[in-house]
Amino acid sequence: MTNKQPRTSLSKSLFLKGLQCPKALYLHKYNPELRDEIPASLEAVFQLGTEVGEYAQKLFPGGTVIPYGELSIQEQIKKTEDEIKKGKKTIYEASFSYDDVFVKVDILHKGRHEWEIHEVKSSASVKDVHIDDTALQYYVLSGTGLPVSNAFLVHLNGEYVKNGDIEPRKLFVMKDITDDVKEKTDFIRSNINSLKTMLTGDMPEADIGEHCATPYGCDFKGYCWRHIPEDSIFSVTGKFSKRFDLYRQGVVHMKDIPQKFLSGRQRIQVNGTLKKKDFVNPVAVKEFLDSLWYPLYFLDFETILPAIPLFDGTRPYQQIPFQYSLHYLENETDELKHTEYLANPMTDFRKELLEKLLGGIPDNACVLVYNSSFEIQVLKYLAEQFPGFKEKIETIIDNVADLAIPFRRMDLYRWQMNGSHSLKIVLPALVPELSYEGLEIREGSIAMDAYAAMCRTKDKSELDKIRKALLEYCKMDTIAMVRIVEKMREVI
Ligand code: SF4
Repeated sequence: MTNKQPRTSLSKSLFLKGLQCPKALYLHKYNPELRDEIPASLEAVFQLGTEVGEYAQKLFPGGTVIPYGELSIQEQIKKTEDEIKKGKKTIYEASFSYDDVFVKVDILHKGRHEWEIHEVKSSASVKDVHIDDTALQYYVLSGTGLPVSNAFLVHLNGEYVKNGDIEPRKLFVMKDITDDVKEKTDFIRSNINSLKTMLTGDMPEADIGEHCATPYGCDFKGYCWRHIPEDSIFSVTGKFSKRFDLYRQGVVHMKDIPQKFLSGRQRIQVNGTLKKKDFVNPVAVKEFLDSLWYPLYFLDFETILPAIPLFDGTRPYQQIPFQYSLHYLENETDELKHTEYLANPMTDFRKELLEKLLGGIPDNACVLVYNSSFEIQVLKYLAEQFPGFKEKIETIIDNVADLAIPFRRMDLYRWQMNGSHSLKIVLPALVPELSYEGLEIREGSIAMDAYAAMCRTKDKSELDKIRKALLEYCKMDTIAMVRIVEKMREVI
């Protein structure tokens, strides 16, 4: 919104923010400097939304785009009016304002008689918040006098399998939500009024609660949660349904949580944090180590999850491995060796990756991974795509051992792990001389994004830089497993 808009004016995102928590809307309007920094992983989500939105435009080709950044709000509205007057049948990002609420419609399409709203989402299902979002658009468009016959939620079809050119009508599901949207008209009107009134007063009182994370993570947590100490009830890992009930009764610090509310693992965490005490179950750790054998291979994949399927035989959001790292020991006294693969951008690398991987792992190897469900899912996907290699892949799956298990069970626990069994937390707690600090890429989601950046760039030095960072990151995941196993042996 421009400065010319009234103080109480709303946009679609502001309205939804206000529905989630009026205080979040207030802070966004008047104290935006208090917002948390946007994590890089979230920026990737925004990027994904744009990509899906633009792809959905193929459902109604030949439309006119009302650009967001280049025009002021008034200009966007005016241009939309002009396009409608000119008889344009499809307008992308069509812009309207009514009741001081500004909305942009992803795809506005003239049906047989009247206009249709098509709200595009990158998810594979309809959520309640999507109905509110579209209901607001319906309210605004109807308010301007534009006849709207239907409202559709356009989302990805999770069952769609690419086979040749993508067919947008099959890739997307167009769900008619007209009745749901119309039913919400009073709800939308009264909430617009109450949010506007709220914005003319002082900041509303709102304590933290479940609403800080639902339906979206709020970006003012750093501000509102500043009274919550590090060792709080919210740092206790695992399911804990009474968390906010206890908080409302004044239980904030871990030390005040009644023991009866804690599971065995949660007690290990809480005692560990409060007394800076570690925990070891040497029998269980030994049992785990005894279950491993040589040759011992440490495997880690990096994957992409393209919303729009890249390759034939894949669905939206299918995990596709583009990189792996493999450290290995042929026997107990052998020196550690390493091999790796990183796909070249913009190629169908799947078969090459698979052949290299299968050539690198002998049938009798114990394949150690961290969080086996992920690696097994990736291997099963490869078996499905390349049935000729199914038997060999299934042998690998049969030989998979999961290094996360002893940490998930807390058989070996350092108080610095703070209840987490994530590799990124376990490693520095157990092997302090080794950590992800200083690496350019430190998370799987960033690696995913880095591969996408590799595909976009034309700059050779930029490409080499990303390649190097990806190789370092994935290699760190497997060397971390090697060092953790060594440490476990030392401990017992
Ligand atoms: S952090 Fe929670 S209480 Fe604070 S503004 Fe956001 S949703 Fe509201």
